Parts: sequence; structure tokens; C-alpha cells
Amino acid sequence: MATPLRVLVHGGGIGGLTLATALARAGHRVRVAELRGELDALGVGIIQPSNALHVMREIGVLADCLEAGFAWDTLTICDPAGGILAKIPQPRMGDAPSNIGIPRPALARVLAAAATAAGAELAFGTTITELADDGHGVDVTLSDGGSGRWDLVVGFDGIGSPLRTRLYGDRYAPEYTGFANWRVTVPRQAEVQGVVMSTGDRTAKALLTPITDELMYLGAVFAEEEDFRPDPERAHEQLAERLAAFTGPVAEALTRVTDPAAVVHSRISQVTVEAPWHVGRVVLAGDAAHASTPHLAQGAAMAVEDALVLALSLAAEADVPAALAAWEARRRPRALWVQALSRAVLRQETGTPTTPEEDELLEVGIPGAAHVLVEPY
Ligand SMILES: Cc1cc2nc3c(=O)[nH]c(=O)nc-3n(C[C@H](O)[C@H](O)[C@H](O)COP(=O)(O)OP(=O)(O)OC[C@H]3O[C@@H](n4cnc5c(N)ncnc54)[C@H](O)[C@@H]3O)c2cc1C
Repeated sequence: MATPLRVLVHGGGIGGLTLATALARAGHRVRVAELRGELDALGVGIIQPSNALHVMREIGVLADCLEAGFAWDTLTICDPAGGILAKIPQPRMGDAPSNIGIPRPALARVLAAAATAAGAELAFGTTITELADDGHGVDVTLSDGGSGRWDLVVGFDGIGSPLRTRLYGDRYAPEYTGFANWRVTVPRQAEVQGVVMSTGDRTAKALLTPITDELMYLGAVFAEEEDFRPDPERAHEQLAERLAAFTGPVAEALTRVTDPAAVVHSRISQVTVEAPWHVGRVVLAGDAAHASTPHLAQGAAMAVEDALVLALSLAAEADVPAALAAWEARRRPRALWVQALSRAVLRQETGTPTTPEEDELLEVGIPGAAHVLVEPY
């Protein structure tokens, strides 16, 4: 499609800002409607594996990501006392680095600056209030009083996607897995030069992930009732109680956690939109379409791959409907494979019975998945 398109991106998170950058760089007119009043991504870190970094390079922000984060290429497996059990080299996609850890706010700033520099318009504190797709365009009213007609509306609006609810009601509401993730940022220990995964018994695994020269985050997953919330006065103590079996670097990291408000607790849910991800000229992408558990650290990677491939499909195909069909055909198998394997890893690590299909997936395992995922997306 040679003509510049008008594209409205609903959600200015990791996927939405990546798409806005890719499309604006290709000459399209892009507006991002983001509900939050400002860039206030959670103050914890995120792993960007090589396939995500490959996308970052394609949209021109790899150097900024590397400067803001901490690059590493080896996964270290430890026992609860910190004794090293294995060191597993991580693959690269092309010449992209193997992995970085990066503070989420830093990644958000890099992506927002890139989208703005490319010419996209970012509207904070804004959401869609009305939407009507007549097959040739989408008429949208926004909460900031703006309205317009768009060639394409993209729902990069996260796991709770209001656009998904608009298309499908509650049919694909997030499904709670029974597990929750605890994360907290602490000073980086000198020996943490890449992800250090310490395994305890079946119900305890802790990850230390470097995100800058100075900082790393401690993350751990536990079975919890859906309505459980940490005690705001003693969340740090509750985390320490759950990790009592660890005596090595994990225990040392916990001694630095003194503020309960620094502990971020997230329920782990999954979304699988089985129906088409696009209806007419409205499309769901990233977590809105296929949120997965974080066990392969690939959720954001899948979102940014979705974004880049959507931009490439719009460039390659004759019109918007053809581009959406081609995009979905290319993205669905890979994103759902990641989702299924992530879920299987969660079950395996937590001692939850697995299905024969999951057992087959688990033969690939986390190290094998890293190799699959550096194949072209
Ligand atoms: C505990 C945990 C750890 C994780 N760790 C990793 C990791 O290490 N590596 C990795 O790759 N992935 C990881 N993920 C997954 C990753 O965070 C998500 O997959 C990724 O953020 C999805 O990107 P997205 O753009 O689809 O959605 P989001 O990044 O969630 O962005 C959605 C955006 O939409 C906005 N929005 C919501 N409602 C509206 C509305 N009504 N109007 C306008 N805007 C709206 C939100 O404010 C938000 O900015 C993790 C997830 C969890 C839960």
C-alpha cells in the first residue's frame, strides 16, 4: 500500500509505541490514544530477549535500549544456596544482542521518544468512547473531544483490552492461572551478570535479573488465591517468608528490601482470542489478543514482533483487509506456541499436572525455546 494510512493505536504500552514508531517511520499518520495521564510504566524491570532486540534495531532504538539497560548472554541456574548448577549460553537473532534487562520506565521513554521523533502523535489521558466501522473506514470519538475517521484501529490496550470487550464482550476475558508474580528492584550484586535462576522445591523459584549497572530485580512466582493482595504494611516480609528456603544471593537481595511499597505483586493471567484477531478494520494485538504467563519472558517480545510484522504487512499487501489477514496468519501460530509453552513451563515448575500436549512442548524446554525464537518471526 503506497498511500499513507491514518492509523489509531489504542494503548501506548510496549507494543503500541513500537507500532506507532514503525508506521510513522514508514510515512503513515499515526495517533496513539493512551489512557494513562503520562508515561508511568511500573518501576520494575523487563527482559528483552534477542528477538525483541531485533525489532528494536528495525525501528531504530537498539542503541538507546542498550544504553538504558544491561546486556547479558548467559543464563545461570543455581541451587537455593547460590551454588552454580549450570551456565547456559543464550542465542542471538542475527547480530542482535542475546538479551537485555531494562527498567520498564526507561523502555517506555525510549519508545515514546522514538514514536514522537518519527512523527506519531501521542495523546495521554485519552481513550476511545465511540467506534463505528463501515468496512471502508472507522469513525472514532475520543474522550479528549477529538474525533475522526481512520483506515485502521489497533487495540494494543493490554490484557484487560477494552477494545477486545467491544468486539467480543466477556468471551475472552483474562483467565487467572492460580499463580502470582512478586517483583522488587534492589541493588545489583556484582556476580549477577545475567539472569540467575535459583530453584528451590517445586513451589519456589527465584530470578535475579540485572537491569542497569546499579540495579537488578528479584522475581518469584507463587500459587495464590485470585483475591489475595499483599499486606501494604508488610509485603516485603511476606515475600521473604515465601523465599525462606533460599540462603544465597536471593536471601542477600531480600535483606535490601525494606519498603513494602517497593514490592510489585501481579496476578498471572492468560488471554487466548480464538476468534479472528481482527474484525473489519479493528485489530487486537499483543496482550489484548494473546497474553501469556511470563515464564519465557516473551510477552513483550511477541507484542513488538506483532507491531513490526503489522507494519510490514501493511507495506506488502494491496489493502488493509488483506494486510490484516496476512498479518494474523503469520503471527497466530508463533504467539500461541509461546503462550502454550509458557503455560506448560508454569505447570511443570509448580508441580501442576501437565497434559500430553504440554509434555510434548516441554521437550523443547526454556533453553530450546530460546533457539526457536531467534528464527525469523
Ligand atoms: C509479572 C510479569 C513479568 C513479565 N516479564 C516479561 C519479560 O521479562 N519479558 C517480556 O517480553 N514480557 C514480560 N511480560 C509480559 C509483558 O509485560 C506484556 O506481554 C507486554 O507488556 C504486552 O505489551 P502490550 O503493548 O500488548 O500491552 P501493555 O504493555 O500492557 O500496554 C497496554 C497499554 O494500553 C493502555 N490502555 C489500557 N486500557 C486503555 C484504554 N481504555 N484506552 C487507552 N489505553 C488503554 C495501558 O495503559 C497500557 O499503556 C511480563 C508480564 C508479567 C505480568
